[in-house]
Amino acid sequence: MLATVDALLPLSLLEAVRDVDTPEGVLEAEFVDELRNKRLGLSDTVYTQIKRYTESVRRNQRTAQDEAIALARLIGRRPDAEAVLRAAGRFLAREAYLTVSPVTRGLLRFLPSLVARPMAFRRIRRIAQRYLNANVRRVGTYILLEVPRSVTLGVAPGSAGCAFYESTLRELLRLLVGSTGAVEHTRCEGRGEGSCEWRADWRGATGANA
Ligand SMILES: [Zn+2]
Repeated sequence: MLATVDALLPLSLLEAVRDVDTPEGVLEAEFVDELRNKRLGLSDTVYTQIKRYTESVRRNQRTAQDEAIALARLIGRRPDAEAVLRAAGRFLAREAYLTVSPVTRGLLRFLPSLVARPMAFRRIRRIAQRYLNANVRRVGTYILLEVPRSVTLGVAPGSAGCAFYESTLRELLRLLVGSTGAVEHTRCEGRGEGSCEWRADWRGATGANA
């Protein structure tokens, strides 16, 4: 069977490219037409693809994993690859967070951590499964995110490609449990360790009520 990813994954990669390449100041905006030819994120191709993936997300259609890998490789060639991949991770996390019902999001914020923590954990596990093809488990005071088939593995020098998943996990934890605690890349397929794995301190993530 053809490996697929949720369309939100390639969409997040392109949204990040567009965001990073969009000029900020008014002065720069005046030259936007000139810049358009130089910046991939402002090109018509990217615009068209973003529309296509947005439609796929709306229709719950998945994308071929190879297509997402090709986009990640394209980003990986940029000097600012890591920053773009981190931005993509944050975008994906925020969009995925919005699929959690507003009632649940409110409860997660106000309930004591003893109750909120297992709720948040289930959400993180579901989001990781659906949007990252990843597994999440709890070991002691840690949350482990395991990605067996990384889309961004080796696309940029060193383990810069892996920053995409790390950034997603970090932002998810921030949104769901209000934490930006330490996230470590404990295992990496780039070093031939079978899969990529991140470890986040879950206890640090629970705040004063832990
Ligand atoms: Zn890795």
